[in-house]
Amino acid sequence: MIKDPLYDLFIIGGGIHGAGIAADATLRGLSVILCEQGDLASGTSSHSSKLIHGGLRYLEQKEFSLVRKSLKERDVLHQKASYLVRPLRFVIPQQPQMGRPSWLIWLGLKLYDHLYHSKFFLSSQTMRDKIFSVPLKAAFQKGFIYSDAQTSDARLVITNAIAAHQKGADIYTRTRFETAQPMGNYWLVTVRDLLTEQTRTIRAKCLVNAAGPWLDDVLMNRLHLTHEKKLQLVKGSHLILKRFYQGEHGYLFQHTDGRIVFVVPYQHDFVLIGTTDVLFEESMGNPKTVITASVEEEQYLLRLVNEYFQQTLCHEDILYRYAGVRPLVAGDKDNISKQSRDYRCVVQEEQGLPLLSIVGGKLTTYRQVAEDALNLLQPYFPKMKPCTTQHALLPGAVIAIDEVSYEQSFLRRYSWLPPELAQRYLRSYGMRAELFLGETHSLPELGIHFGCGLYQAEVDYLIREEWAQTSDDILWRRTVLGLRMTLPQAVELENYVLEKKWTYSS
Ligand SMILES: Cc1cc2nc3c(=O)[nH]c(=O)nc-3n(C[C@H](O)[C@H](O)[C@H](O)COP(=O)(O)OP(=O)(O)OC[C@H]3O[C@@H](n4cnc5c(N)ncnc54)[C@H](O)[C@@H]3O)c2cc1C
Repeated sequence: MIKDPLYDLFIIGGGIHGAGIAADATLRGLSVILCEQGDLASGTSSHSSKLIHGGLRYLEQKEFSLVRKSLKERDVLHQKASYLVRPLRFVIPQQPQMGRPSWLIWLGLKLYDHLYHSKFFLSSQTMRDKIFSVPLKAAFQKGFIYSDAQTSDARLVITNAIAAHQKGADIYTRTRFETAQPMGNYWLVTVRDLLTEQTRTIRAKCLVNAAGPWLDDVLMNRLHLTHEKKLQLVKGSHLILKRFYQGEHGYLFQHTDGRIVFVVPYQHDFVLIGTTDVLFEESMGNPKTVITASVEEEQYLLRLVNEYFQQTLCHEDILYRYAGVRPLVAGDKDNISKQSRDYRCVVQEEQGLPLLSIVGGKLTTYRQVAEDALNLLQPYFPKMKPCTTQHALLPGAVIAIDEVSYEQSFLRRYSWLPPELAQRYLRSYGMRAELFLGETHSLPELGIHFGCGLYQAEVDYLIREEWAQTSDDILWRRTVLGLRMTLPQAVELENYVLEKKWTYSS
């Protein structure tokens, strides 16, 4: 029999905001369906700088409340999933001609430490330590060091989707929201399965527009509710290079134009350099549209880092580049790098039915966005429970014992795993790695080896439990092994995934 439930929420978009709202709503007892036109996190939420941060730069724009809120969330998210949101120390090499005077940076860092007193992140320090100046040019002999956190953006999305699904949410990927009409006491929603091109209708009491940079497309072209854009789209690009410095710290480099660029250790053997701010006035297109980093953006980033590092980095050193589009609250087009990164949750009614839109926001504040957004829906769901996400652990988070003791017992139990692979499992899945490692005692028991430490047991788990449907879903969003795999290895994986997917769906 075909299920035709009346859902409380229909969520459009499986980025961090859609997944975060689904996780919060299910904890509050609402029934939820989430539809994502591509893969989970295939939009902006896998193309970020992957930082959970207060946003030191926003202090200059006097966005104190946003910075405080973000710093608080940094602690909250670290507690909810410490395997996924990990402290990272940043070095700011200082030379007055590179940007701000030393006293201003120090003042900013002290304010950063004081806006929210963190339980987990070390406070800022001045430094003259040679160890940190090794990869830098000799001119940089002093600077500062401060703390923020690094995450895997796509895994944070998927982990929230898992949390929602564990509490009963239905999650559909490759399913596009087409349109919706108010029909008495519910929205009649039409969705299209993008693999079969078939459409179906779904009933829900409330629509949630968490389509990120597609927010205006949903409001203007699918719901025909407005002609006015709510968003300013701003592209940002990143470069990935082979790791060329020792140490687990990142760098924050200042440009003379006031902008900043991060260089952070990435996936053990790589570094991530970004980002840029470029007005994006094209259409967002369909989920397969690839937005690329331009030559100018690449040159801008290389020029800046070459001002700081002894080693000259060039075009040939770049292994991979990606670009994402920030959905910012519409504002001053002439100064896009200074445009607010804050968010707005807006509820409007159509024939008495609620439509909630998430405008703007950052990865860092997603949990707070979900809390604020759902609080706005209280009048429509009077029996909705209060928010509990601040203290609810995310799937995979270590329960009962501390993380270090858990990691030690994991490494003892699976002592036959190569150390790098064990670390990757722990950083990606936390305790959930046990779901596919189970009672195995050797590598051959993990099945086919697709290369670069990707075994069948993990692939099967990702298809079965994490909505992976293609090799790209696995290589770029769930593991980032795409950086290491050869084309023939990726093709072998794609063939396996296609075959396996049909086994699961039939
Ligand atoms: C370059 C860059 C660097 C950044 N760095 C950071 C950082 O370090 N830290 C931080 O906190 N924030 C950062 N951000 C901001 C952060 O990444 C975004 O604010 C956040 O990912 C937006 O999430 P979202 O869920 O709103 O949008 P998205 O992730 O884009 O999700 C929206 C989803 O909706 C889907 N969708 C759209 N239309 C439909 C439809 N009709 N039917 C079904 N699905 C649909 C899309 O496919 C998409 O997956 C950065 C952003 C950029 C661009």
